[in-house]
Amino acid sequence: MKKIEIENMVKGLASIRKMRKNEKNLEEIEKYNKLIAEFNLILDNYTSSDEYINEEYMNRVEMGIIETDGTPIKCEKCNSIDYREVITDKIDYIVMEKEAICNKCEHFMGLWVTGNWCS
Ligand SMILES: [Zn+2]
Repeated sequence: MKKIEIENMVKGLASIRKMRKNEKNLEEIEKYNKLIAEFNLILDNYTSSDEYINEEYMNRVEMGIIETDGTPIKCEKCNSIDYREVITDKIDYIVMEKEAICNKCEHFMGLWVTGNWCS
C-alpha cells in the first residue's frame, strides 16, 4: 500500500466518524460503525506489515535518530543526544537487556536485547 493511500484512508476515517456523530438514525450509525471497523482493520494490518515497519525504520535512520544497526543517536521527542543506558536484565554479571532513556525528557529511546538494539 502506498503512503498516499494510507493518508486518504485516515482522512476518510475522520470524515466517517464525523458523519456518524451527526447521524440520528440507528441503522445508519450501525453502517458507519461497520465501515469504521473495516477501515481500522486495514490500517492495523498495514502498520504491522514488514513494509511499513521497514519504511518507518529507514525514515528514522535518515532523520539521524538511529544508526542503521538501530543504535540510538538522538531523542525523537526533544532532539537531545544525551541519554543513559539502564540495565533492565542481567544473568550473573552478563547484561541481557538494557534501555536507552533520554536524560533531558526521559523519553524511551530503545531497547537492547542480547547484542541488538530494537529501537
Ligand atoms: Zn528527549
